[in-house]
Amino acid sequence: MRTPTTLLTLVTSAGVVAALTVPATAAPPPDSPSAKAPTRTGPPPVGHELPKVPVMTGGGGAVASVDPVASQVGIDILERGGNAADAAVATAAAVAAVEPYSSGIGGGGFFVHYSAKTGKVETIDGRETAPATFTENVFQNPDGSAMDFMTVVNSGLSVGVPGTPATWERALERYGTMSLNQALKPAEKIARNGFVVDQTFYQDTLDNQERFSMFPATAEIYLPGGAPVPVGKVQRNPDLAKAYRELRTHGAASLYTGRMGEALVDEVRNPTTAPGVTVPKGQLTEADLAAYEAPFKAPTRSEHKGFDVYGMDTPSSGGIAVSEILNLLESFEKRTGRSVKDLSEAEYLHWFSEASAMAFADRNRYVGDVPGVPTAELTSQAYADERSCLFDPERALKRPVPFGSPDGSYAGGCTPAGTSALPHEGQSTTSLTVADKWGDVVTYTLTIEQYGGSGIVVPGWGYLLNNELTDFNFTPTTPGVPDPNLPGPGKRPRSSMSPTIVLQDGTPYLTAGSPGGSTIITTVAQIVAGVIDRGLPVGEAVAAPRLSSRNGTEEAEAAVFSGAIGDELRAKGHVLRLRPVIGNGTAIRTFSTDLFTAAAEPTKRRGGGSAMVVDPQ
Ligand code: GLU
Repeated sequence: MRTPTTLLTLVTSAGVVAALTVPATAAPPPDSPSAKAPTRTGPPPVGHELPKVPVMTGGGGAVASVDPVASQVGIDILERGGNAADAAVATAAAVAAVEPYSSGIGGGGFFVHYSAKTGKVETIDGRETAPATFTENVFQNPDGSAMDFMTVVNSGLSVGVPGTPATWERALERYGTMSLNQALKPAEKIARNGFVVDQTFYQDTLDNQERFSMFPATAEIYLPGGAPVPVGKVQRNPDLAKAYRELRTHGAASLYTGRMGEALVDEVRNPTTAPGVTVPKGQLTEADLAAYEAPFKAPTRSEHKGFDVYGMDTPSSGGIAVSEILNLLESFEKRTGRSVKDLSEAEYLHWFSEASAMAFADRNRYVGDVPGVPTAELTSQAYADERSCLFDPERALKRPVPFGSPDGSYAGGCTPAGTSALPHEGQSTTSLTVADKWGDVVTYTLTIEQYGGSGIVVPGWGYLLNNELTDFNFTPTTPGVPDPNLPGPGKRPRSSMSPTIVLQDGTPYLTAGSPGGSTIITTVAQIVAGVIDRGLPVGEAVAAPRLSSRNGTEEAEAAVFSGAIGDELRAKGHVLRLRPVIGNGTAIRTFSTDLFTAAAEPTKRRGGGSAMVVDPQ
C-alpha cells in the first residue's frame, strides 16, 4: 500500500535507509497491564501505526498476511520491483519477527508458487523432519501407552529439523530476484527495533507463561522481569536480529552445517531448563541437520467446476483433503440435482460438513509420509462420485464416517472400508499470500506447530524451536487399521497445511491459505467453495462464519452455532461444539496482472489480518 511515508525502508541495491519510527502514543487505562509496566528503552519500534485493513483492491501487486508490519514489508518489495517469491520470503521472515509464536527459523512450512513464465505450479516441502534414530514407539511409555502430550510438547524430543531457512533460500534461488541477504533485512530490523505488543500477542504470551518460564532463554525474551511485555509496550529480540544477520551473511548453511546448527543440536539434546525443571531430551544430531532437504515437489491437482485446484501433496494432507471436499460437493450436486449456489446457508453447511467428514476419514486412514499414498485416486472426481453414495441431504451421517476404497475401481458400489479414530491435533501457524504484477502468485503456510512451539528458544539466537514431531500419532489410532502417521526415522509428520492456488484457463484466479491445525483444511476449502461455489467476493468468503467438521464433533463459530443455522444443522443430526475462532485465512483474488483483491481476517478473528495492494483503487 502506498502511504505518505515509507514505513519500512527496504533493501535495494542502494541499501537500507531508515525505518519509520512511531512511538506508542495511546495512554493505557490505569488498571491495564501496560499502565504498570516499566518503560523499556531502545530503538523505536517499526511501523505499528499501520492500519489493519481486511480487504483491499488495486494494482501493482498484493500481499495478505496476519500483520500489517509484515504485509508492508512485502508491499515495499513489490513496489521496488521485487517479485512474488521475494515478497513472500521477506514477508514470512517479518511475520516470524512480529508473530514469533506461530512460525520462524526454528520451524517448517509449505511454499506453493505459480510462475507466469512457465505456467506451472510447484511446491517446496519445507516440513520438519524426524531424527534418523526415531522409532515407531518413540512417543510411547514402556507399557506401550502414549506419553503425556504436553510433556512431549515442552521438550527436545518434539523438535524436528527446521525446514524454514532452507525453504527461504531455495524459493529465492529458484523463483526470486533477491538474495537471502536482502530479503531478511527488514525482518532483522523488526527483531532489533521491536514491535508494539497488541492484545493478541500479550494474551498468547500469558497463555504460554508457565511453559516459557521452564526455559530461561525463552523467559529472558518473552517474560522480562517474570511477566509478559504489556500491551502498548515494545517487544524486542536482539538475538533474533543476530540470527537473521547470520542467515543473511552465511546463508541457511549456518543452520544446517554451521554454528547455528551446533547451538540448535546442543539445546535440543540437552535443553537448558530452570532450576528444578527437567524435560525429555531430543535425539537430533548434526548429521540430521546436514541431511535435511527442502525438495521441490509436484502439487496435488484436481478440477473443480472448470477451475484447476493445486495444493500441497504429502507430507501434508492439505492438498488431498481440500480437493476431496470440493469434489464431493460436486458429487452431491449430481446426486441431488441441486447446485451449491442455490442452497440455503444451513443446507450448504450440511453438505460441506458431510464432505469434510468423509475427506477426513480418508485422510486419517491413507495419508502420511509413507510410500504409496493414493493421491491421484483420492483427488479424482470418480472416487468422490463413488464415495458420495453415503450422502443424505436430510440427515447427518453418524460420526465417525467410514473411510472409502480409493482403489481405482468406481463401478458405483458403496463399499465403505472401515473406520479409524481421530488423532490429536493442535493449532497455531501462519499463512500469507502474495501476487505480483508479472502474474506470479505464492501461498505459503509456515509453522512451529503450537503457539510458542516447544517453548525452547535456542540460547543466544532468539528463535523458538518447533514441536512439529507431535504431529505424528503417538500410538496407532485404531487397532488393526494401518496408521500412516506413526513416527519413523527421517520421516515428516503429516500436516494439514493447505496453501492452495486455483487457476482458471491457466492463470491465477484465487490463492489462499490458513493456519489452524487440522481446521486449516476446512477453512481453506470453505474459502475456495465460498468464492467458486457460492459466488462470494473473496473478502466475504474469508469473513464468512466457519464450521469445521473433521469426522467427530463439529466445531462452529458463534454465528453458526448460536443462531437459526445451528438449529437447522442440529435438527439434521449434527453435533456442534462452539469454537470462538476457526482459522486465520489470507487470500488473493486475481482479476488480471494489474487488478487484485487481497483479503485477510476481519477483527473478530485474532484481532484481524492485513490485506494490502501496491496501488489501492
Ligand atoms: N502443525 C500443524 C500442521 O502442520 C500446523 C499447526 C497449526 O496450524 O496448528 O498441520
